[in-house]
This record gives sequence, structure tokens and C-alpha cells, in this order.
Amino acid sequence: MVAPSWGDAMREYRNKAGKTRVMPSHYDLPEDRDEWDTFGWCLACGSGFEDVEPDCRKAQCSDCGEHTVYGLAELALMGLIDNSEGDEP
Ligand SMILES: [Zn+2]
Repeated sequence: MVAPSWGDAMREYRNKAGKTRVMPSHYDLPEDRDEWDTFGWCLACGSGFEDVEPDCRKAQCSDCGEHTVYGLAELALMGLIDNSEGDEP
């Protein structure tokens, strides 16, 4: 069995364009909640970033080059944070 480098908590879905995207789960968020305000996430490759504005949308990812980096608040608005195993809203 090949272990995925991203870990098992990663959640994949398909967007309207049919592209595979990755939503973060609670396990992908920083442990320190003070860092949530500046946490960003690339929906294309599943990379997490620090120092991202909460309302950031479609910023370019430095890992994969796609314009798919969103701030945590935007992800929450879009319902793209997997809460299935977390106990927080
Ligand atoms: Zn990326």
C-alpha cells in the first residue's frame, strides 16, 4: 500500500468544472487558533499557507501555480472545510 504524502485527512471533491479539488479538514488547520486568521489553503494541491488574508480569494499558489488559494474565512463561507470529524462549527 502506498501511503499518500498528504495524509488521510485530505478530502477530495470535484468542482463545477470537473477538476479534482482538495478541501482541508480540521486536522489540516493550525493547532493554534490565533493562526487561523492568517491561514490559507490551495484547493488545487492541498498546500497550507501562513500569512494569507482571511478574505483572500483566488490567490496564486506558490506550489502549483494555480489561482486557487483561499483564506480560511472564505473556505468556511463556501463550506469547503471538512468538519465531519471535528466537534467545532
Ligand atoms: Zn497549489
